[in-house]
Amino acid sequence: PIRVRIAPSPTGDPHVGTAYIGLINFIYARQRGGQFILRIEDTDRARFVATSEQMIFDALKWVGLTWDEGPDVGGPYGPYRQSERTQIYRDHAEILLANGTAYRCFCTPDELETSRKQQMAAKLPPRYAGTCRNLSPETVNTNLAESKEYVARMKVPLEGSTTFHDELRGDITFEHTNVDDQVLMKSDGFPTYHLANVVDDHLMLITDVIRAEEWISSTPKHVLLYQAFGWPAPRFWHMPLLRNLDKSKISKRKNPVSLVFYRQAGFLPEAVINFLGLMGGGMSDSVNPETAAVAAVPSGKASEADIFSLEDMLARFRVDKIRLGGPVFDLTKLKWLNGEYLRRITPEDFYSRLRATILSDDYLKQIAVLIQARIETLGQFGDLTHFFFAEDVLPTEAVFLPKKRTLEETLAFAAEQLTALEATAWSVEALEPALKALGESHTWSVKENFMLLRAIITGSTMSPPLLESLIVFGKPRTLDRMRRFLD
Ligand code: ATP
Ligand code: GLU
Repeated sequence: PIRVRIAPSPTGDPHVGTAYIGLINFIYARQRGGQFILRIEDTDRARFVATSEQMIFDALKWVGLTWDEGPDVGGPYGPYRQSERTQIYRDHAEILLANGTAYRCFCTPDELETSRKQQMAAKLPPRYAGTCRNLSPETVNTNLAESKEYVARMKVPLEGSTTFHDELRGDITFEHTNVDDQVLMKSDGFPTYHLANVVDDHLMLITDVIRAEEWISSTPKHVLLYQAFGWPAPRFWHMPLLRNLDKSKISKRKNPVSLVFYRQAGFLPEAVINFLGLMGGGMSDSVNPETAAVAAVPSGKASEADIFSLEDMLARFRVDKIRLGGPVFDLTKLKWLNGEYLRRITPEDFYSRLRATILSDDYLKQIAVLIQARIETLGQFGDLTHFFFAEDVLPTEAVFLPKKRTLEETLAFAAEQLTALEATAWSVEALEPALKALGESHTWSVKENFMLLRAIITGSTMSPPLLESLIVFGKPRTLDRMRRFLD
């Protein structure tokens, strides 16, 4: 049977790229009576974010995807969370150390850094210098006896090349001189992505690896690992990356990439999954060819054929028809599509969607607490709170420009505020010192600093308490409003 998976890393907000790749895997499995598996790749402890896993589950369910096996639903090949499988990876690293396709590397971080700098200075691509590739068994034993820390590295052949078949692109060849001796097990006892990914895909009987294009350069390492274990490799499908209008890879600098943003900003999940289904042209038989590329289509030109449900996709989507030209993640088109969905639902449904999202009891209660002491009649509720319900507020220059500051200085400081907000946990306790520290380092008074932020987010110099308001408004929409202000 066909078995596919997505393998997101819980490093932050769930990414639209995860839903896009998830959709394609889901369709591929469902169309073939196969299984779709969700595996959590949480071995990078430095980037691990505890709340991220649940957000990934919620976001994927929100767009309508369901999985047959995963950390939350279990399954016969679990556990499905890599941090619970570390012994499996250690045992597998031992197999490679024993059969000579991997070796122990005792180089210290300082030594690696020195070597990296030398290579950079000589304009060479930074690669492991091979110092420990051929240590004698005696040296290895002495080092182990001295409890020296080590990592396990892959012993990539020095000559020749590795070729693999990509189902959308044909054969792809990498010369071994361009493949680094990848670390497989780190000294903290955790595997790297490469080892864990290959071991799990094998043990979970994955038949098709369908993932984003950015993993192509990792694939030769994976193929070499399958060979080192003596395992057959799965089929590989690398999907074109979602692009900004300027064709760069979508990034949070230019588009909101968090699925949480789309939910909180009031996009309908049906529109989001429809939009992701348009990416790459897997529905091209039914899609208007003029709009299929989804390049900056003026709203008027998008067509009825672009509107379809997940059911339609299960019936008609062709993974093998995906086009390699980068699909453009065009927010204008997504908004057009969302508007179409809003117009098509019944007034009752429309109202209940409002009540479930931006007019939910929970949201309204959190806002009410912030303004109770600040209004004289209930009728003034909207005066202080409209910014919670708007997509955009437009502070005039007079509102946001603190006295004594030039426009350039003000914008530059706002950009720094955005960076600080991005990097800070979303609580008053964390935001307050972060913003104060930023102000002090730029000799901006607390008052000016908060006034500028208040103007950008609320459009006014008067508002409910600022940081509490940001918490209720939420990080994804706050960051988006800052970014659009700076654009
Ligand atoms: P960013 O640069 O925005 O931080 P990232 O690549 O660091 O993006 P990750 O959280 O590592 O983001 O990516 C989450 C998942 O989404 C990964 O599986 C990745 O392959 C996929 N992904 C990231 N960017 C894109 C994209 N532009 N198109 C399709 N998939 C993507
Ligand atoms: N953990 C990787 C990610 O974040 C998985 C990539 C793959 O599918 O192999 O996307």
